[in-house]
Amino acid sequence: MKIFRHNLEPPLSLKYSFRLYLLKNLELKINLSNLKLNIPEKERYKIIFERGLKDMQKIGFIGIGIMGKPMVKNLIDAGYPAVAYDVNKEALEEIISYGAKRAFSCKEVASQCDIIITMLPNSPDVKKVVLGKEGVIEGVKRGQILIDMSSIAPLVSQEVAKELEKKGVEMLDAPVSGGQEKAQSGTLAIMVGGKEEVYNQCKPILEVMGKPVLVGSIGAGQTTKLINQVIVAINIAAVAEGLLLGKKAGVDPQRIFEAIKGGLAGSQCLTDKAPRMFEGEYNPGFRIKLHVKDLNNVLETSRELHTAMPLCAQVMEMMQTLIADGQSEIDHGGLALFYEKLNGISLKKD
Ligand code: NAD
Repeated sequence: MKIFRHNLEPPLSLKYSFRLYLLKNLELKINLSNLKLNIPEKERYKIIFERGLKDMQKIGFIGIGIMGKPMVKNLIDAGYPAVAYDVNKEALEEIISYGAKRAFSCKEVASQCDIIITMLPNSPDVKKVVLGKEGVIEGVKRGQILIDMSSIAPLVSQEVAKELEKKGVEMLDAPVSGGQEKAQSGTLAIMVGGKEEVYNQCKPILEVMGKPVLVGSIGAGQTTKLINQVIVAINIAAVAEGLLLGKKAGVDPQRIFEAIKGGLAGSQCLTDKAPRMFEGEYNPGFRIKLHVKDLNNVLETSRELHTAMPLCAQVMEMMQTLIADGQSEIDHGGLALFYEKLNGISLKKD
């Protein structure tokens, strides 16, 4: 293990100088007892200690999309050395210039890191990235941990974990909720499945990105995320359906929003999505096609478990209608467009 040596001049900004040091030496490991002896500046020690960087693990990050990009930026800001990979060259370039090291394959990410994080669209992507040719599994060694933060089918999480276990690699499924804004502010809700000791090991890293809660064994995080997606989808539909009736009845939907947002009908969905509906602004955000992917996983699970989910099935059909109409890439707040078309009236402010 390499030891942290304090050869930096007193920094202008502790955070910046610490990051700079890490960028210069990506093999860095921190030995806390040495820090105690060697750091002259009490405050620097305090910052490092508070971040829980007992052992500065190198993080591999695969999937630098709408969510992955701000998440890995927060990890870099917190001082973690990061190695990144994405098939999208533009996205990769941006994160390299932010301070991550470039990898040329998923296998290479795995061979260079202690912890590998994936943030990919769907189950087949995670299977391909982790278990496929030149995938993570070809580069791993015993003792590493994979944290999959994508939203995928719980059964696929379990399947991937089983394959990794054969190589002595542990896995957590840790999907998130909160969208791009909370990814940027590092305040995502993180639903984690896996072994408690593995969770405890990864908690300081997860806490950089949001608020993690261990909900059960592997796959339980994904099951929790499915429930999250049912509640969000039905909530957005309810927001659009209700506001549209208001407009039709001649009451300004913006005033309705102001009047009800602090009451029982208030919700994060109402607060986030209603203003988009008034602007007719549906840049993603969370793409409709990704929400359909999640609801598909919900309905497959509910059929297997013989659980009736009539509202979820309805909203799924509404989203499918929008996709059939060429709207697969818009934000899921665009569910309002379905109601607008049905009723021949717009929620956009006049
Ligand atoms: P995105 O499409 O913006 O990003 C996915 C990234 O993965 C892309 O950059 C893509 O190039 C990369 N990728 C795909 N296949 C790859 C491969 N084989 N190798 C390397 N890179 C590959 O998606 P996103 O919005 O960031 O969502 C990621 C996950 O998070 C999804 O499962 C989604 O359901 C979930 N999620 C998204 C939001 C949101 O608001 N966008 C919120 C919560 C959860």
